[in-house]
Amino acid sequence: MKRIAILGSTGSIGTQALEVIEANPDSFELEVITAHSNADLLIAQALAFKPNAVVIANEDLYDKVRDALQHEDIKVYAGANALNSVVEMGTVDMVLTAMVGYAGLQPTIRAIQAGKEIALANKETLVVAGQLITELAREKGVNIYPVDSEHSAIFQCLAGEFHNPIEKIILTASGGPFRGRSAAELQQVTKAQALKHPNWDMGAKITIDSASLMNKGLEVIEAKWLFGLRNDQIEVVVHPQSIIHSLVQFEDGSIKAQLGLPDMKLPIQYAMGYPNRLKSSFPRFNFLDYPQLTFEQPDLNTFRNLQLAFNAMEQGGNMPCILNAANEVAVSSFLRDEVGFLEMSDIIESCMAKVAYIANPSLEDYVNTDREARLRSTELVKR
Ligand code: NAD
Ligand code: MG
Repeated sequence: MKRIAILGSTGSIGTQALEVIEANPDSFELEVITAHSNADLLIAQALAFKPNAVVIANEDLYDKVRDALQHEDIKVYAGANALNSVVEMGTVDMVLTAMVGYAGLQPTIRAIQAGKEIALANKETLVVAGQLITELAREKGVNIYPVDSEHSAIFQCLAGEFHNPIEKIILTASGGPFRGRSAAELQQVTKAQALKHPNWDMGAKITIDSASLMNKGLEVIEAKWLFGLRNDQIEVVVHPQSIIHSLVQFEDGSIKAQLGLPDMKLPIQYAMGYPNRLKSSFPRFNFLDYPQLTFEQPDLNTFRNLQLAFNAMEQGGNMPCILNAANEVAVSSFLRDEVGFLEMSDIIESCMAKVAYIANPSLEDYVNTDREARLRSTELVKR
């Protein structure tokens, strides 16, 4: 029985993780759930699952959540600091980091320091501070299980291969809703179009990142740290059907792939249930429904965000942290109709040129870099 804390239980990953827990009552027990501001759903989840504790990050909603749960034996906390404390609770075995963005960094660090296993969906944490996080995890003897479907695929391909060096990995990308479009066409695209992903139903931020290919850029950096790879060992191929979730090539030239229908419950369940494969009733893949699996080169000139992410990884230090902060500001500005689709890349590129580079950042450097990069990119949005 694994006792689970879910950071971001009201989101796309969080709600699907709850479905997995509900379907496997003998394997998982829900200890903690947290949300930013969707108090109604958090309350409904608490009443259904009766966790030990809930956190609402937005403190204005504390009274509402506390009042709704006053007759239950459930502790209610509020604020960002409470996220840092609940992950340390003695009754928690594993923390599923399913919150979005840089805000996941601190609670992930605290969970690792407390020796909790991590099921990591919050890729931004590894983009911002991959070296620090993976070193800390090694020092504490904590395993980080990937939830991102591509990284789960690679992790699954590595089962039984841990002593065999990886030659390279190939991350697959769906290409998003704008695959094949020219820069001129991208100038005109709307938020509503960008929010319509062809294969996956996800939160707004990652959906925009998927449309701009920034998501793949973040995943390249995430993979570098998760699997301890050199930059030149990571490739991206566009695979519009999202059936092959990623591949590993070994030193004998053999390639292993993991396949399945696009359904995040599978990687979520694999991460939470590792090393076991729990039975599931998820729809099964049938080759005859997909007679054509196709592959293309990603268009780095049109989808500049992916190139910018490769550049940030190459430069290292705090550059991926700058990239991530500028991207978070650019995406939320795009979602408020303040900037166009292509302007997001302009903002990120200018921000990467403006914020001071630090080759070997400390945690404090990351915090300052994130703040500085947000200020800079907000100025760029307002220009
Ligand atoms: P989402 O927007 O649907 O949900 C985000 C969750 O985080 C919500 O519960 C929200 O309340 C909480 N949250 C947001 N900001 C917060 C803050 N500042 N403090 C505390 N809580 C906060 O997002 P999602 O699509 O579920 O994605 C979550 C993470 O998983 C992201 O890092 C994303 O890149 C990653 N991921 C998602 C998918 C997917 O299919 N949705 C796939 C792979 C990876
Ligand atoms: Mg992914």
